[in-house]
Amino acid sequence: MGYKVVVAGATGNVGREMLNILAEREFPVDEIAALASRKSLGTEVSFGDKTLKTKDLDTFDFTAIPSLNKMLVLELARCGYILRRENIIALGNSGTGKTHVALALGLAACQKGFSVAFATAASLVNQLLEARDEKRLLRLQRELQAVKLLIVDELGYVPLSPTGAELLFEVFSQRYERGSTIVTSNLPFEDWTSVLGSERLTGALLDRLTHHVSILAMNGDSYRLRQSAGRRRATAAAEQNQATPDNADPETGEIIP
Ligand code: ADP
Ligand code: MG
Repeated sequence: MGYKVVVAGATGNVGREMLNILAEREFPVDEIAALASRKSLGTEVSFGDKTLKTKDLDTFDFTAIPSLNKMLVLELARCGYILRRENIIALGNSGTGKTHVALALGLAACQKGFSVAFATAASLVNQLLEARDEKRLLRLQRELQAVKLLIVDELGYVPLSPTGAELLFEVFSQRYERGSTIVTSNLPFEDWTSVLGSERLTGALLDRLTHHVSILAMNGDSYRLRQSAGRRRATAAAEQNQATPDNADPETGEIIP
């Protein structure tokens, strides 16, 4: 394969650590592919001294989110969009599986040998600001530009400073038609100004990001909430079963002799 895999995705406190790996270490394709094909995916995969948290599409329940076009996601997992340098934007409220799908697509890209980097928007911007202060911005920008797939998770939860927004814009701008970017956001496009501050900047950013793009519509019930509501119901039912003897009327709880 022609590419070296640099880094795979992670959830939680990624950012700096991920980009450090991105900068300092390269892993051969088959090493990642071997890891990625292990059954332990969906939980954690240890990687030398690093731990990657990954999610894959096999563990994703498409019936839970009817607004999401399953065929489109499966097609995207084949990575043609990366060869075409197109983007993906996943939009929807919290807990609907946006990060899960983004990581799964990142993993699919890793398995095909593309370099992938993952960071939340907030941590990416922090790293850019830090790099600027330490006079190594150009290097970081070059690294970010070189990655075949950049995943920017959670754009929208934290408003960015004007400089932060500008630096993020530069990343998208430098990757335009050079590499693929996946962005996830809880905000519809018309509200992105509230994160990026300026209407002009938001317009220019969306212009580049959405020129060649697949949109994943992921609005629905929070999977997390639904799971915990389901657990609560199950616990309540179990408790009720315990409290009610076998010979009780299921409606009234009255003991039937
Ligand atoms: P979001 O990024 O949209 O807020 P996440 O991707 O973090 O949501 O999903 C929250 C949790 O629920 C994660 O643990 C994720 O793996 C799980 N999850 C969400 N949607 C699904 C689904 N359709 N099938 C399986 N797991 C899901
Ligand atoms: Mg998320």
